[in-house]
Formats: sequence, structure tokens, C-alpha cells
Amino acid sequence: MSVVELSPTPLPEGAGGATPHVRIAIVGTGFAGLGLAISLKQAGIEDFVLIERADDVGGTWQANTYPGCQCDVPSHLYSFSFAPNPGWSRTYSCQPEIWDYLRDLAERHGLHPHIRFGHELTAATWDDERRNWRVETSRGVWTAQLVVDATGPLSHPQVPAIKGLRRFEGTIFHSADWDHDHDLTGERVAVIGTGASAIQLVPRIAERVAQLHVFQRTAPWILPHTDRPTTRFERRLYKALPFLQKAVRIGVYWSRESFLLGFVKDQRVMAGAERIAAAHLRKQVRDPELRRKLKPHFRLGCKRVLLSNQWYPALARRNVELVTDAIREIRGRTIVLADGSEREVDTIILGTGFHVTDQPTAQLVRGRDGRTLAERAEAGIQAYLGATMTGLPNFFKLIGPNTGLGHNSMIFMIESQLRYVMDALRVMDEQQIATFEVRPEAMAAYNAQIQSKMPGTVWMSGCASWYLDAEGRNTTIWPDFTWRFRHRTRRFDARAYELRHDAAVPALAAAA
Ligand SMILES: Cc1cc2nc3c(=O)[nH]c(=O)nc-3n(C[C@H](O)[C@H](O)[C@H](O)COP(=O)(O)OP(=O)(O)OC[C@H]3O[C@@H](n4cnc5c(N)ncnc54)[C@H](O)[C@@H]3O)c2cc1C
Repeated sequence: MSVVELSPTPLPEGAGGATPHVRIAIVGTGFAGLGLAISLKQAGIEDFVLIERADDVGGTWQANTYPGCQCDVPSHLYSFSFAPNPGWSRTYSCQPEIWDYLRDLAERHGLHPHIRFGHELTAATWDDERRNWRVETSRGVWTAQLVVDATGPLSHPQVPAIKGLRRFEGTIFHSADWDHDHDLTGERVAVIGTGASAIQLVPRIAERVAQLHVFQRTAPWILPHTDRPTTRFERRLYKALPFLQKAVRIGVYWSRESFLLGFVKDQRVMAGAERIAAAHLRKQVRDPELRRKLKPHFRLGCKRVLLSNQWYPALARRNVELVTDAIREIRGRTIVLADGSEREVDTIILGTGFHVTDQPTAQLVRGRDGRTLAERAEAGIQAYLGATMTGLPNFFKLIGPNTGLGHNSMIFMIESQLRYVMDALRVMDEQQIATFEVRPEAMAAYNAQIQSKMPGTVWMSGCASWYLDAEGRNTTIWPDFTWRFRHRTRRFDARAYELRHDAAVPALAAAA
């Protein structure tokens, strides 16, 4: 599936003259940005631009090209409900296939004329007088009535603060920015981190490298993976009988939803899963010392639960060393550990995750009072329905605070928010609303309710994880069933918002 060349179709010029004006500026072309663009097209709305810093669509699945990159939610559910793919070649698809799926969607829905690749958002500033946003990018400026931030929760790689890291004399890259021109064959390699990306890439490079040192801070829980290739029969069946694929999707959804009971309601449920994971470790690792290092010391689910059948066998290889001592510093090509021992390596691969609770985009968005989103979020980032924020009129964040999941598909959450945004546009049109801004009391009440659900959940059971911010607040996870989120976002609830109407049009808000 090839991607058509971006046509140089000019975007509509606004009344402002030189600066083009659009109704909606969407930043990001991952699942969220593309999903919204498709919804807009389907509703007959063409007046939008998609701003993307990369040179192709796909977001997560365009950036993460490391060997072994794969989703950990079954593909029938980790895809749009309105665009099922009967042809998935595995039950849990690998990155190239998910990326193809997204590229194909962008092409089929004619999104390319709307996309501006290589445009990095540098500032989005609300102009209260003109009642619109000024959207600045590395290659051009727009004004827009609405801005939708679809820049994703896992799109800004985190580089650890290790003394000397930036002066490392070998090759260094992050798992989300894989250097495909660099051949690891026969090299001495260090992988820092043992999270979701590292456990996928380590087994894929272990055979090729001369020596691999894997640096682990915390041993993760690993469950056996049920991934398998799909059969030709299955693929034909789903193509011929789409309702069957839908039924499988529904089945997967409800079985994943049931995991929440253990995460939130009764952590004893997790003990069963811990026993399965412990047996997996016992079966795959014979060496008692290695097994001891790999034994997790927190409740399963507190950090993201990982799936792999290859991780433990890779660590048990003779050319692989699991290092659990802290890194003190890096000197030249040498990694110096806290105990003074040294490992000389040619390449360092950072499997150190992303800026999640401190996303750089928050520094770029400036609201009604001139403060950035980061400045407004001093007491922890908050949003109403993970989407709208007081002080930021006509602004949506997709997959914003407290929309993340440990148990189900993020695409379900994205689709819920897409419905909400589309309903907001409908209400704006019907009631001639010029601006909306969530009322502070509505946002505060919503967040108080979310936070009141956190104590006693597995995410607050004492581990350090990327779900928590610097103050230990969980601003990442949706702590409830996802169908409840779908229910809450089914309609744009205008009463939660301060509305300003077009001057010429009588106020209709009360009717909402
Ligand atoms: C390796 C990996 C595996 C994952 N597996 C799963 C899984 O199995 N199941 C699951 O539910 N979730 C998974 N996730 C989470 C995943 O991120 C979401 O499911 C989903 O893809 C997020 O889509 P998005 O559109 O919100 O963000 P993204 O896909 O991250 O897209 C954001 C886009 O915004 C662009 N952007 C960012 N900043 C700027 C800027 N300043 N200017 C212009 N453009 C910008 C980026 O280039 C990117 O294209 C995984 C994440 C990773 C990293």
C-alpha cells in the first residue's frame, strides 16, 4: 500500500488575508488525528488541516519501527470499529501491518490534501479578541476556530538523566527513533530499560550482537503471549461474514473489560495472574540467580502488564547479561555502574519510554490568560473528559489526562472522544456558538470524582510507574470500565461549558 504524494492543494484562505484560516487545526496524524479527520470528512466538513511533524501518517506506528514492535491488544480490537480489517496476519499485529492499516485509511479517505507533513507545532495561542487560535508551525502559520491536540501520550521519547550519556562516544538511539542504517551485527550493545519496547526488541537483536547488556531498574511482570498467525480460513471467513469479526471484537472487548475487576475492585484477582506469570518465569529460566533478578516486587498491574514468550529465553542466552546495578555514569564508551564495575559498549539503545505526564506540547499551548498549558497544570494536569480544559476555549485534547488504560484498547477511548468532538461541532453549528470553554467547577468536580476512585487501585499500590506524575498523582489512567467513559462522552454536554454566541445570533445555550 503506497502513500500518494501530498498534493500541493492550497488550503482555503480565510478573511484574514495572508494567514490561511481553517475551521479546525488538528495536530498529529496517529489513530486520533486520522480518526477525527475521517469523522469530519464523513460529516461533510472539509475545512480542516492536519499538522504533522513527521513525513508520514501513523503516529506511534510510524515512529516505532524497532525490531519486534507489536501491539499488545488483539488486532480485532486494536483498530477502528468503523474500519475492520479481516486480513490481519497475526492475532496481535506487528508494527508494519498497523502502520499500513493507517496509511491505507488516510489514502482511502482522501486525507492527504489536508495533511502538512514536516510541520512541527511550535505555538498555539488563543486570541480572545478575534476568537480564534493562532497556530504556528516550523513551516507556516494558520488561524483556526478550533484546535485539536492529537499529539499522543507516547510520542515524545524520554532520555534518562545519566551523567555523561550525551557525550557517549559510540552510537546511541531511542527505541522510538531506531537507526536502521546502523548494523548491530557483532557489536557490544547496551539496552537501557526493561519496559514494553525493550522486552520486544531485545529477543530480536540478541542473536545478532556479540554481547548484550540489558540494564534493568525494576523487573516487570511478564505473562505468556497468546499471539499466533491467523489462518487463511479465518481471514476468508471474516471477509465473507463481517458480523463474525464484529462478534470476535465484542468478545475480546468484554474479556479485556473484565480485567478491570482485578485492577480496581479486588486486587486478589491479580494473585491468580501473578501465579501464571511466576510459573512462566520458572519454566523459562533455569538459573536461580537470574530468576531471582527477574522476580517482580510489586503487584501485577501496578505498571503495564507485559506479554512475551521470548523475553526470558533471550536473557538466558550466553551472550546476554542482565544488569541490575544502577548506572553511575558514562565515560567515553564505558558504562560505569554503582559498584564500580564497567561495561564497554559500541551502541546504547534507550528503551526508556516517553514523556507522559510532562508532555512538551503543554509548553506550546497558550490559553485565554496568556498562560501555557504547562503553567496552568502546576497542580497536576487536568481536563474534563480527558479533552477540554478551563482557560483554553475551542480546544480539545485527544487522549488527554486520565484516558489511558492498563486493560483495554486505546482505540476505544479515542473513538469515544471522536464522537464527543463531532457532537460538539454539531451543537456549535445548531446553536451558532462561537466559543466554548469548560466551566472550572465542572472540570474540578469531574477530576475530584476521578481521583476519588484512585485509592485502593492497583496503580496506587506502591510501585513507581509512568502512570504517576512527579507528585505521585495518577493523571494518566481512566480508573473505571471503558463503557462508562463511552457513556459519559456520548453527547456534548453544553451545560458544563461557558458558551459565547455569534453576536448576531440570539443565545440558545439554555436550550442545550
Ligand atoms: C510501541 C508502542 C506500542 C503500543 N501498543 C499499544 C497497544 O497494544 N494497545 C494500546 O491500546 N495502545 C498501545 N500503545 C499506545 C498508543 O500510543 C495508542 O494506542 C495510540 O496509537 C495513540 O494514538 P494518538 O493518535 O493519540 O497518538 P500518536 O500515535 O502518538 O500520534 C501523535 C502524532 O502527533 C505528532 N506530533 C507530536 N508532537 C507534534 C508537534 N509538536 N507538531 C506536529 N506533530 C506532532 C507525532 O509525530 C505523531 O504522529 C502503544 C504505544 C507504543 C509507543
